[in-house]
Amino acid sequence: MLNPIGQSKWILCTRGLGYACPHGVRDGIRSHFLDNSIGVVLEEMGEEIRVFLPGQDQMFIVNRHDTSDVDVYATGKGYEHMICNICFVLKSENEFQINQTDAKGRKTRRPSCNICRQDIDRRSIPNREKREAKRLRPKKGTLWRCPICRKMGIVGVNVKVVADHDHYAGRWRGHLCDSCNTGLGRFKNGENFLRNAIAYLKEHEVNR
Ligand SMILES: [Zn+2]
Ligand SMILES: [Zn+2]
Repeated sequence: MLNPIGQSKWILCTRGLGYACPHGVRDGIRSHFLDNSIGVVLEEMGEEIRVFLPGQDQMFIVNRHDTSDVDVYATGKGYEHMICNICFVLKSENEFQINQTDAKGRKTRRPSCNICRQDIDRRSIPNREKREAKRLRPKKGTLWRCPICRKMGIVGVNVKVVADHDHYAGRWRGHLCDSCNTGLGRFKNGENFLRNAIAYLKEHEVNR
C-alpha cells in the first residue's frame, strides 16, 4: 500500500523538516532534509502527510503547514524552476548549468543542479593522466578496434576515438569509441547499473 512507485500526487516540502520513517515506522526525532524537496504523497493523516522523498530515498512524515501544492508539469524547459534529478529539490533554473542551445535558440539545462554536479566535476583528471592518454592515443588514419563493442574503424575517419576517464579515481582508463564512452556514462560508470542492465536483458530474453 505504501509503495511509492506509481504514485503521482506531488507535494513541495517548503520546510525540510519531518520524522524519518527508516523502516516505514516513524522515528522519534524530527530531522532536517533539504528545503523545497519534492515528495510523493503516500498517505494523508489530517495535519500530517506521509511522503516519500526520492532525493533522500526515504519516507518522511511531515506537517501540512510545512508543505505547499506543486504542479510538477509547470517546471523544466520554458518555466522558471526545475526539479533536480538527483536531490529532487525544486530550484530556480539558474541553479542548473546551460548545456546547449537548441535550433530555436532555447537553452537546455543539465538535469542535475550545480550542487549535485559538484561531486562529479570536482574530481578533475590530473595533467599527468591527460598526457599519458594523449601519448597512447591511437594514431589518425590507423585501423583501430574498440575494446568494448569490438567494432573496427579508421581513426578520425569513420570512428571517433575518445579518452575514457574514471572521474572518481581521477584516472585515465583507456580509449573507446565515442558511442561506448557515452554508453558507459549513461550507466553512470557503475558496475551495479551494468549488472542491472544485464539482469534485465536476461529476464526478458527470448529463446530463439
Ligand atoms: Zn540537486
Ligand atoms: Zn565501442
